[in-house]
Amino acid sequence: MRILVVEDEVQLADALAEILKRNKYNVDTDYEGIGGLDDALTGVYDCIILDIMLPGMNGIEILRNLRKEKINTPVLLLTARSEVEDKINGLDCGADDYLTKPFVTGELLARVRALTRRKGSEMIDENKLEFKGLELNKSTCTVLYESNDVKLSLKEYQIMELLITNPRQILPKERIIEKIWGYESDVEYNNIEVYISFLRKKLSVISAPVQIKTARGIGYSLE
Ligand code: CA
Repeated sequence: MRILVVEDEVQLADALAEILKRNKYNVDTDYEGIGGLDDALTGVYDCIILDIMLPGMNGIEILRNLRKEKINTPVLLLTARSEVEDKINGLDCGADDYLTKPFVTGELLARVRALTRRKGSEMIDENKLEFKGLELNKSTCTVLYESNDVKLSLKEYQIMELLITNPRQILPKERIIEKIWGYESDVEYNNIEVYISFLRKKLSVISAPVQIKTARGIGYSLE
């Protein structure tokens, strides 16, 4: 799981990053709005913790930009007590939750867990994910469309899971490697290309209504 923290109070931002890292999240931090928006627009985060009052660009504007670009990463707004109006505004602009400063660590972690569970395509039950009628089944390691199904290898399954939980978002190849093989791996880009081509064949075998598109030089998206 990867979290972006955008917060200009450096001490608070660093403390948040530290707590999240201790809880096994990968964390990136921005201390101002423009860089925060830039990072958030990559769409590779599982959750964004976003302060409202920021230099450069405020949290509400960042959020508005993200939703305009169809990036639906869950956003947890951080607000000061005096920013009630902003909070309402933020929820109207597509924030998923908010937390008023000061807050306790346990609550922040609980909110992040709730938001990351809710993310992405529709979860039918804990073993099934669905996008456009295509169903990915964890317990059987298969993809199913109408009455056709096909078995996936573990790596194919993991890549498909990543794509289906981030539909219509370009997933950079390095992000896929990081998620599936881990930071330290020496897997090369052409390994992923091979898995993607297997997946495409399997999707076409079951006449799936979705495609894995290539974003040249960047990565892939499920459309
Ligand atoms: Ca602030």
